[in-house]
Amino acid sequence: MEKKVENATIELLNGDITKLSVDAIVNAANSSLMGGGGVDGAIHRAGGPEILRECKEIVKEQGGCPTGDAVITTAGNLPSKYVIHTVGPIWKGGFENEEHLLANCYRNSLNIAVQNGIKSIAFPNISTGVYKFPPKKAAVIAIKAVTEFIKVDDSIERVIFACFGDENYEIYKDIIEGLE
Ligand code: ADP
Repeated sequence: MEKKVENATIELLNGDITKLSVDAIVNAANSSLMGGGGVDGAIHRAGGPEILRECKEIVKEQGGCPTGDAVITTAGNLPSKYVIHTVGPIWKGGFENEEHLLANCYRNSLNIAVQNGIKSIAFPNISTGVYKFPPKKAAVIAIKAVTEFIKVDDSIERVIFACFGDENYEIYKDIIEGLE
């Protein structure tokens, strides 16, 4: 399904983000930027060694990526042009600023996208895997951060939420259908 918000289209997908031919896919990375499990592992596996090589360069320059921030690399062998790596917060009961940090992931990824002329971008459900962020709370934050961003920015044309399984897909569908 999809929904028009201002000049952009929000699209919902239930499937593997690594298959998408968009300008950028976002990776739910960890602060070491050295790869991991979940969507991070899938992106590095499908994209090949060039992505990790560039991540290592970034680590050399800035020493990893703080939670809520984002960095950009090539997409290697993936059909997208770039991978934006953002570091979601680990859920700790909501007492450690996790909600604000998760919103920062979406905002900072979109900022770095705009700086690189990216017009179509796909997000996974950041922090809802190994990092255990409650899925519904995470979806509300993700959709709010993205819609607020595209209301003030007019360069992003497509934002795709790539859910990976029915639970998140249904949660996102309900919220997106209710958008003004
Ligand atoms: P985090 O550490 O931020 O929780 P995970 O990779 O463990 O990151 O999970 C984030 C989300 O990515 C989860 O909802 C998980 O189901 C999803 N995911 C895992 N593999 C893929 C994939 N290939 N494409 C899209 N989403 C994926």
